[in-house]
Amino acid sequence: MPHTDNTWDAVVIGAGAAGLFCAGVAGQRGLRVLVLDHSPKVAEKIRISGGGRANFTNRDLDPRAPHKHFLSQNPNFCRSALSRYTPQDFTALLTQHGVPFHEKHKGQLFCDHSADDLIQVLLSECATGGVTRWQPCGVHAVRHSDTNPLPYALDTDQGTVHAHAVVVATGGLSIPAIGASDFGHRLARQFDLPIVTPRPGLVPLTFDAAAWAPWAELSGLALPVLIETGDKKQRAVFAEDLLFTHRGLSGPGVLQISSYWQAGADIRVQLAPEHDWAAALTQAKQRSRKHLSNELSQWLPSRLADTWVQQDPLWQRPVCDVPDKALTRLAEQLNAWRVTPVGTEGYKKAEVTVGGVDTQALSSQTMESRQSGLYFIGEVVDVTGWLGGYNFQWAWASAHACGRALKKSL
Ligand SMILES: Cc1cc2nc3c(=O)[nH]c(=O)nc-3n(C[C@H](O)[C@H](O)[C@H](O)COP(=O)(O)OP(=O)(O)OC[C@H]3O[C@@H](n4cnc5c(N)ncnc54)[C@H](O)[C@@H]3O)c2cc1C
Repeated sequence: MPHTDNTWDAVVIGAGAAGLFCAGVAGQRGLRVLVLDHSPKVAEKIRISGGGRANFTNRDLDPRAPHKHFLSQNPNFCRSALSRYTPQDFTALLTQHGVPFHEKHKGQLFCDHSADDLIQVLLSECATGGVTRWQPCGVHAVRHSDTNPLPYALDTDQGTVHAHAVVVATGGLSIPAIGASDFGHRLARQFDLPIVTPRPGLVPLTFDAAAWAPWAELSGLALPVLIETGDKKQRAVFAEDLLFTHRGLSGPGVLQISSYWQAGADIRVQLAPEHDWAAALTQAKQRSRKHLSNELSQWLPSRLADTWVQQDPLWQRPVCDVPDKALTRLAEQLNAWRVTPVGTEGYKKAEVTVGGVDTQALSSQTMESRQSGLYFIGEVVDVTGWLGGYNFQWAWASAHACGRALKKSL
């Protein structure tokens, strides 16, 4: 039975992946739960995710080694939640709801039909738990009083509500056009909880316009590469596709590396990584009178080969006439093309936010913060997954841990 007063065991702020899932879990345990979201549409980020089919988890996730697929100042923080709610648990839930899905690439699981199937599962789980959802409904202030039996008061568009616990599931900063806000970070600061400085992740990288001009013509061209950034201490490497854009580089390999890239650092790209460039170019010089760019286009897209040789007049000739030193330099560059981005495409294009509420201030078992009764789940926390379904799995797992820990108070 929905209740009519304004008192709740838990108010969840944010009706996205983590907020809806947490609300459903807590509601089904008998808690009176209200979910609020300032956006008019429910779970819009799920709807647009994975090209409209939501890459909702990844079979390769290893909860015993979370550092493999997650970034955080404390990569072990997410271990507990991820091992208590696994990709298999989530796929079992989808199967129970009759939602068909398939594996695409490197363990990535997608809905067969549409991401909307996933949203319907979450809404149905909420309905089973008797969860109330107010949407659109903004929250203006959250107040806390130790003396009140329901210590939290939230001033909302629909009046003041009182709760035993508040769950912050407001997500990251990416795609402000569909409701992203820094509300969760501000709330953390209000309660003196530390924040790891946020920055865009899984985002295309941009380059100085003048320096990039020759490469900009390759916009739309994609090829498999090995891409890396960082030093010996903190090196990240991905074997994925790279995509040239008008302003820089994108594609899965670049999105992955962008989460690790630090401003001012370079990235190294190995082109045709399975290939021994030094040996191939030496052999080509011995056997061929073809132009060097024609030789390169056996192993690289010809547009890229043409643009590449423009960098050095010594490369703009038949391969047999290219001096050995110039060929060696070319092989070195194709093995490790060093480029230094000037920035990223920012939160408008980023899939996630790296950083967020510092895990030092949170319990890895329950997601409760040092501020009793205040919980943070999903992307608002300083836990960021790789591309490939890891961010949704973190949303489900952290939401589940929190939903199981919330207590009945009314
Ligand atoms: C284009 C795109 C594609 C993506 N594809 C994938 C994918 O295929 N696989 C994957 O794992 N991850 C993907 N992600 C990342 C994934 O969508 C997020 O990591 C995930 O949605 C985070 O869940 P969340 O519940 O923490 O936040 P969200 O799902 O973003 O939900 C946060 C909710 O809080 C609400 N909110 C914000 N501020 C307030 C406020 N002040 N008051 C009230 N409500 C508020 C928002 O309106 C929103 O509904 C993608 C992201 C983008 C942008």
